[in-house]
Amino acid sequence: MLELNKRPIAVFFDRDGTINEESGYLSNPDDLSLIKGAAEAVKRLNTLGIKVIVISNQSGVGRGYFSEEDVVRVNRRMTELLSSRGARIDAIYYCPHHPEDNCECRKPRPGLLKKAALEHSIDLGRSYVVGDKKSDVELAGNAGSKGILVKTGFGSSQLMAMTTAPIFVAEDILDATEWIINDLT
Ligand SMILES: [Mg+2]
Ligand SMILES: [Zn+2]
Repeated sequence: MLELNKRPIAVFFDRDGTINEESGYLSNPDDLSLIKGAAEAVKRLNTLGIKVIVISNQSGVGRGYFSEEDVVRVNRRMTELLSSRGARIDAIYYCPHHPEDNCECRKPRPGLLKKAALEHSIDLGRSYVVGDKKSDVELAGNAGSKGILVKTGFGSSQLMAMTTAPIFVAEDILDATEWIINDLT
């Protein structure tokens, strides 16, 4: 298939509860463990030339629970664990603000995703957002992308609260990724 002139597609993954196990305001890299299948999922997207971008709310910074340096260290551990399994994250964006700051970057607001799309020339209409919260699915809606809810992390508990319907409810990140790849072909 000739795909000249086509801008790249991205899968925007949430971090906590989606790529790594949810453990509540994670700030110590040693407490990070990948969700089963995460590296495999990212690797498959890498192989297909689909950008893998992490969009994460880290209000623990705004709440004074930890610093931005802690966020960076946890992010680094995540990328190291993934890359040791042959998987590459193309970029990571996070919102450090408190929910009451009313910033433009806290999900479900699309500030970070729009920034990422601009910096990586992403075609948002053909891209996906995958996360374990209502706000991830709403982010997809606000950005004109397709939203997938994973049942890992807080995912199972979010189903009843959904106001925007996800295009798919996946067992986990690998299930979501397989669905996306199937949706693209
Ligand atoms: Mg999450
Ligand atoms: Zn923010």
